[in-house]
Amino acid sequence: MAAAFNIKTNRTFTLIRKRAWPITLLVAIGGLWYPKLGLLVIPIILSLTGLAFFRGRQWCGNFCPHGSLYDYLALPLSLNKKIPSFFKSKGMRGLVLAWFGYSMTNRLLKTLPTLGTESFLDKLGFVFVTTYLMVLIVGGFLSIFIAPRTWCQFCPMGTLQMLSYKLGKLLGVAKVTDQKITIAAKEKCHNCGKCSRVCPMQLAPYQEFSGKNQFDNEKCIKCSTCVVNCPAKILSLNTEEKAAQLIQITDIDGYEKRVKISADLTKITKLKEDVTEYTFDFKTPPRVDYKAGQFILVKVQDNPRMSRAYSISSYNKDGRCLSVTVKTMTDGYGTGLIAGFKVGDKVELDGPMGKELVVDKSVKKVLLVAGGIGITPFRSIVTELLNSPNKIEEIKLIYGVNKQQEFIFDEDFKKMEYEHKTFEFIKVVAADDTWEGKKGFVTNVIQEMDLDDYKVYICGPKPMIGPAMKVLNQRNVNEENIFVESA
Ligand SMILES: Cc1cc2nc3c(=O)[nH]c(=O)nc-3n(C[C@H](O)[C@H](O)[C@H](O)COP(=O)(O)OP(=O)(O)OC[C@H]3O[C@@H](n4cnc5c(N)ncnc54)[C@H](O)[C@@H]3O)c2cc1C
Ligand code: SF4
Ligand code: SF4
Repeated sequence: MAAAFNIKTNRTFTLIRKRAWPITLLVAIGGLWYPKLGLLVIPIILSLTGLAFFRGRQWCGNFCPHGSLYDYLALPLSLNKKIPSFFKSKGMRGLVLAWFGYSMTNRLLKTLPTLGTESFLDKLGFVFVTTYLMVLIVGGFLSIFIAPRTWCQFCPMGTLQMLSYKLGKLLGVAKVTDQKITIAAKEKCHNCGKCSRVCPMQLAPYQEFSGKNQFDNEKCIKCSTCVVNCPAKILSLNTEEKAAQLIQITDIDGYEKRVKISADLTKITKLKEDVTEYTFDFKTPPRVDYKAGQFILVKVQDNPRMSRAYSISSYNKDGRCLSVTVKTMTDGYGTGLIAGFKVGDKVELDGPMGKELVVDKSVKKVLLVAGGIGITPFRSIVTELLNSPNKIEEIKLIYGVNKQQEFIFDEDFKKMEYEHKTFEFIKVVAADDTWEGKKGFVTNVIQEMDLDDYKVYICGPKPMIGPAMKVLNQRNVNEENIFVESA
C-alpha cells in the first residue's frame, strides 16, 4: 500500500490549543441543561472577528475550542485523508455562510418577544448551544472520516474572519499587524513538501511563497505546525517588515551554487535489505561544483512537485557524477517512490546544498560522529580529507548503530583506516548481544575521548544529536567547534 501523503503530527504546541476543547463540550452538551452557557459564544464571535481584522484566521489555529478538539482529540482517530476540493471551494463557503446567517437571524428574531422576561437569556443562549452542538456533530464526523480540519474549510466563523481580514487589509491595518508564514531563504528549501503534509488545512506553503517570501493564502490559520516540522528550520510566523529583514540577514552560504541538474540514474546497488545506493551521471550541466559533506535533492514526483534531501555519499573529483545512499523508511512516502527508480531513468536533482558538514581543512584534529544512516556524508568526507593536500593530523570517526548488521560502508572505512595512520574508525553497537566490539552509544565513546583542539561534525537522527551535544557541552567543547546535520 502506498504511504499516506498527509502526516499525523502534533499540532497542539500551546496550552490553549491543547486544553481549549472542553469548552466545546461544555457549551454544546452542558448547554442542553444550562442554556445560558451558550452566551459564552457571543464574546468568542466578537473576539475572533476582531482578531481577524488584524491577523487573519489566527483564532482558528490558536484559540478555537472546536479546532482544539479536532487537532487534539480527533487527529489520532482520523483517517486523515485528502479533503475533497468541493469542501474547499468559495461556493461551499458562501453557501454555508448564507445558510448560517439566515438560520441564526431567524432563530435570534424568535427570541426577541421574550426580551425583558426571565427566559430571554436561556432562549438566546440555547440558539448558540444548538449551533455549537451541530458543529460538534457534523465537524466531528468529518474530522474522523475525512480529515480533522475538514469543517474548518467552510466554517462560517472562518469565512467571517476572512471577510474581517479583507477589510483589515483594505484599510491598510493588517499589512502592519498581520503575521504570515515566512520563509527565511527560498534557496534553503528542500522542496520536501513536509509543510504541506503536516498542514491541518492541507495547504502547500512551499509552492506559494510570494516575492516577499511570505505565504499570502487567507485560509492559513497561523497554527505554526509547518514551522515546527520544517526540516530546514527556515519557516517562521512573521510580519512583512520582519520578512524583509530576514531576506537581508539570512546566511545562504553553501546554498548559493544550487542548480537544477538533469541526470541519468546509472547504477543501483543494494547495500542492505533496506539501504540502497543510487549513482547519477550529470547530463545538464555536465559538471557540478559540489563539496564532500553537502547534500542534494532528488525529485520524487511532479504533482505536487516534491524532492527528498540526501547527503552525497560518494567522492568524485571531476564533479560529473555522485551517489546517494537511501534507507527505505517504513511508511516513507519519498523512499517508497525512490524504490521504484530503475537504471536508465532520467532523474531531476537540485543542489548542491549545505555547509554544516563541509569540513574546515585548515584544522588539525577532526572528530566525526555518525548515527545510523547519518554515516552517508562521512564516506565522502573521509575520502576527501585523506586525499586532500592539507593533511589533517587526526581524523576519528565514531559510527553508532543499534544492531551490527546495520553497519554500511564497513569495508570502505576499514580499508581507509588500514591505508592511513591518521584515520581511526570506531564502531559502537547499542543493542546487540552478538556484537563483540564496543557496546553502547556514540556518547559513551565521546565521554572517554580526549577532545582538546577537535572540531566535531555530527550527523544522525535527532535522538542521537541531543545527547551527543549534551556530552560535548559537559566536556567543554565550544559550540562554535561543533557542526550538526540531522539525517
Ligand atoms: C540534509 C539531509 C540529509 C539527509 N540525508 C539522508 C541520507 O543520506 N540517507 C537517507 O536515507 N536519508 C537522508 N535524509 C532523510 C531523507 O531526506 C528523507 O527524510 C527520508 O528518506 C525519509 O523520506 P520519506 O519521504 O520516505 O519519509 P516520510 O514519508 O517523510 O516519513 C518518514 C517516517 O517518519 C514519519 N514522519 C515523518 N514526518 C513526521 C512528523 N512530522 N510527525 C510524525 N511522524 C512523521 C512517517 O510516518 C514515516 O514513518 C536526509 C535528510 C536531510 C534533511
Ligand atoms: S500553512 Fe502552516 S500555519 Fe498555515 S495552516 Fe498550514 S500548517 Fe498552519
Ligand atoms: S517543509 Fe520542506 S518544502 Fe516546506 S519550507 Fe521547509 S524545507 Fe521547504
